[in-house]
Amino acid sequence: MLIWEVSLLQELYLPQRALFEEEALTFPLGQHLMEFCREKAIPTRKIPSHNRVTGLPGETPQQKYAQAKKTLVVGVKQDMRFQSCRPSADYQFPLMTSCPGHCEYCYLQTTLGQRPYLRVYVNVEEMLQQAEKLILEKAPHITTFEVASSGDPLSVEHLTGSLYRTIEFFGEQEQGRLRFVTKFTHVDPLLKARHNDHCRFRFSINSAKVVQEFEHKTPSVDERLQAARKVAGAGYPLGFIIAPIMVYPGWLDEYEQVLDTLKKELDLVQPLRHPVSFELIQHRFTSRAKKVILDRFPHSRLPMVEEDRKMKYGKYGMGKYVYPVETAKDMEAKMRDAIVRRFPDALIEYFT
Ligand code: SF4
Repeated sequence: MLIWEVSLLQELYLPQRALFEEEALTFPLGQHLMEFCREKAIPTRKIPSHNRVTGLPGETPQQKYAQAKKTLVVGVKQDMRFQSCRPSADYQFPLMTSCPGHCEYCYLQTTLGQRPYLRVYVNVEEMLQQAEKLILEKAPHITTFEVASSGDPLSVEHLTGSLYRTIEFFGEQEQGRLRFVTKFTHVDPLLKARHNDHCRFRFSINSAKVVQEFEHKTPSVDERLQAARKVAGAGYPLGFIIAPIMVYPGWLDEYEQVLDTLKKELDLVQPLRHPVSFELIQHRFTSRAKKVILDRFPHSRLPMVEEDRKMKYGKYGMGKYVYPVETAKDMEAKMRDAIVRRFPDALIEYFT
C-alpha cells in the first residue's frame, strides 16, 4: 500500500498519535495505517466516531491547535452526499480534512472549527463509486470534483496513497475530471500516475512576505515551483491559486517576482501540454474567523482591520470583509496583466 520511499518519511508528516474508528479497521487502508503506526511506534487508540474526538492534549487555544495538527484520525466517510464546490468544481471530493500546515489565514480555521486534526477516510472505493454515479447522471456533460476543499490531500499522501488511486480512477472516466490544490511538494510518486489529462494539479502560491509571515510549517514557494515544474513535465494540466492576495508596500513587485520564478521553472519544460490556469483570490476575513485566528495566533499581523475593508455578503447572508471596490479592481487588473505578460495563453479562471 505504501508507495513512498521510507527514507523520505523523515521529511514528511508523521503524527504523534493516531485515533481509529473501529469500523475503519475493517478496511485494508485502515489496517495498513494501524500496521504503519505500530512500526513507527506511534501511539494509537480507538474512538467511537471521527466527528467526536475528545481528550487531545493542550490547555490554551494555541496548544490545542498545535496538538490537533499532530493528531491523525482514521475514519469511514458515512455521508456520501458530496457538497457543491463553486467556483472551483461541481462537487467536493473530501478524501481527507485539514493538513499539517499552520497558515494563519486558512479558511479551515473556521470551517473545521474545533476539529483541526487531520482526518483520512479509508472507504475510498465507496467514494469513487459514488463519484462515478454522479458522473453518469450528468453525462455527456463533464463533471468536476475538487479534492482539496477541506484540506491538503498531498500532505498525507505518503500515508494513504489515496490521491494516486483517485487520480488513476479519474484518468479512466470519460466525463469525470479531478482537481486539487496543494502547498506540499513531495510529488514524485504521483508523476507516474495514469492521469490521462483528467486531473488538474494546482499549487497554492503567494508573495515572499505572505509566505514567510503567515504560512507556517509549509514548504517554501521555490520548492512549490520546482515541484510544479515536475508536475508539468509529467503532462498534468497545471494550475496555480494565488491566494490570499494582500496589498502592502511593494506587494506587486513581490507577486511579479514569484511569477518570474514560475516562468523560469516552466520554461524548462516547454512546450507545455496544456495552458496553465490561475485562480486569484483577494484576502478576506469574517468576524468569526478573526476571533478564532487571534485565539490561535495572538500576535498575528494579518491585515484584519474592519475599517479598512468593505463588507460583502454571500449567498447565505454571511458577511466577509474584502478590500474596497477600487482596491480590488486595481488588484485584479494588475495581477491579470502580470500573468498575461508572462503567460499569454494562461487561463485565468476567476478573481474573487
Ligand atoms: S496548507 Fe492549505 S489547508 Fe493547510 S493550513 Fe495552509 S491554507 Fe490551510
